[in-house]
Amino acid sequence: MIKYVNKVVLITGSSRGIGAATAIMAAEQGYKVCVNYHSNAAAATEVVNQIEDNGGTAYAIQADVANESEVLQMFKKVDELFGGLDALVNNAAILEQHMRLEEMDVSRFKRVFNANVIGSFVCMREAVKRMSTRFGGSGGAIVNVSSIAASLGSANEYVDYAASKAALDTMTVGLAKEVAVDGIRVNSVRPGTIKTEIHEAGRVERVSPSIPMQRAGEVEEIAAAILWLLSNDASYMTGSLMDVSGGR
Ligand code: NAP
Repeated sequence: MIKYVNKVVLITGSSRGIGAATAIMAAEQGYKVCVNYHSNAAAATEVVNQIEDNGGTAYAIQADVANESEVLQMFKKVDELFGGLDALVNNAAILEQHMRLEEMDVSRFKRVFNANVIGSFVCMREAVKRMSTRFGGSGGAIVNVSSIAASLGSANEYVDYAASKAALDTMTVGLAKEVAVDGIRVNSVRPGTIKTEIHEAGRVERVSPSIPMQRAGEVEEIAAAILWLLSNDASYMTGSLMDVSGGR
């Protein structure tokens, strides 16, 4: 049963893929949606238009999550538009070309960790300042979009990305404890292989037979898990790492 909420959600990286599906599903449930994107303004506008055509409310906000001042501007925009924030989905992330560790340079490590780890940490910090009852807020929920790669390690493909998601999971566990009495729940969703543009051409088809369910996931299957964790149905869930990975 769909429960119609009247809340504000900010979803980083919601112009495409899992984030876009989450934005559209959130709007269907009554959330007002801030659609963050990095560079693909056309894709973000398409998501906003789809939500508005369905009678929902959404705004596209450009910001590189790896850039602190742009993140601060994004939260300021959310304040101006809605005067508060009820939910944050840290979904934006990058995954670079497949290679072994010995081929990776430091600039790659910095790009991956700046976007996937520090970007999410800064967004969490800004969300906590707004949601926490400690600072006069009315509570909220955060979902970090991690990856099953955090436990599998992604050898020979992208061990740096896998390690960045493990950092995000540890932040989920620690921050959840830190803000549990301040009305904020923090959880991770850890997708397996999902059909999006993040993958190199042919990878989804190649790995599908090795997944216990013998198929890659759909973006809506991840969006549903994210929205459940944000909802009051998950009111006793915090600090959890939820695998949505077809059995891996
Ligand atoms: P995707 O299709 O590549 O989409 C990435 C989204 O993130 C886009 O909206 C992109 O914006 C945005 N983005 C990238 N870098 C950004 C930055 N620096 N600042 C702000 N936005 C940024 O990716 P996806 O597959 O949907 O992945 C979404 C999340 O799920 C990621 O955290 C990923 O690690 C995780 N995940 C995915 C899979 C999978 O199999 N697909 C599996 C496990 C975990 P633009 O459109 O402007 O470029």
